[in-house]
Amino acid sequence: MSLLELLLPLRCAACGEPGSELCERCRERLPRLCGPICERCGAPTAWPVARCLECAGRRISFASARSALLYAGAVPRVVGAWKERGLRRLAVVLAELVAEAVPPPQVQALTCVPAQHERALSRGFHPARSLALELALIWELPFVPLLDRVGSPRRQRGLALSERSRNVAAAFAPRRGVSPPPRICLIDDVYTSGATTSVCASALRRAGCRRVEVIALARAVRES
Ligand SMILES: [Zn+2]
Ligand SMILES: [Zn+2]
Repeated sequence: MSLLELLLPLRCAACGEPGSELCERCRERLPRLCGPICERCGAPTAWPVARCLECAGRRISFASARSALLYAGAVPRVVGAWKERGLRRLAVVLAELVAEAVPPPQVQALTCVPAQHERALSRGFHPARSLALELALIWELPFVPLLDRVGSPRRQRGLALSERSRNVAAAFAPRRGVSPPPRICLIDDVYTSGATTSVCASALRRAGCRRVEVIALARAVRES
């Protein structure tokens, strides 16, 4: 637990009401990603499909992606508070939300998208890792750090989809001396374009992993 977290009074990350890290009312109101989805990339769709507009024709290295929430409503505020303030307590609540919505992955271990060095170091907190550790407890699976960042890509925000893919390609490498089990679940905080998770999955597969499932807290929905 961070010092800041110990000093600050417990407040709802969405509405600011004192008493808990996420009040009951805000928790209930967070937009769930329920209803039909794309079997492959997990995008919300009008009816269940094997491929959708978002992922058809794209090379995606993971077998499936699932998220508990839509990155909408109060979710960006909650995720922002979680990241900016390093609220580890919130990870417990968010992991519960994921476990309620997403069935346990059929894998041997969980891993996470690695933090960007400078940002992680300056904050000492890595949301994806924090979420993965809590989910590992709930699902009784080991958490194994399997990936490292090898480059320092530009921030993804504001880049076009094609630029994002180029930006993250070759940014990750399997951690030396660790061999991943055949089936791995890769945890991320927010699934945006899937470019980062796909490159991570590709690195895991280079290291010998046969199947990568992606699970994220929230999924950004593209406006079309
Ligand atoms: Zn609240
Ligand atoms: Zn899709």
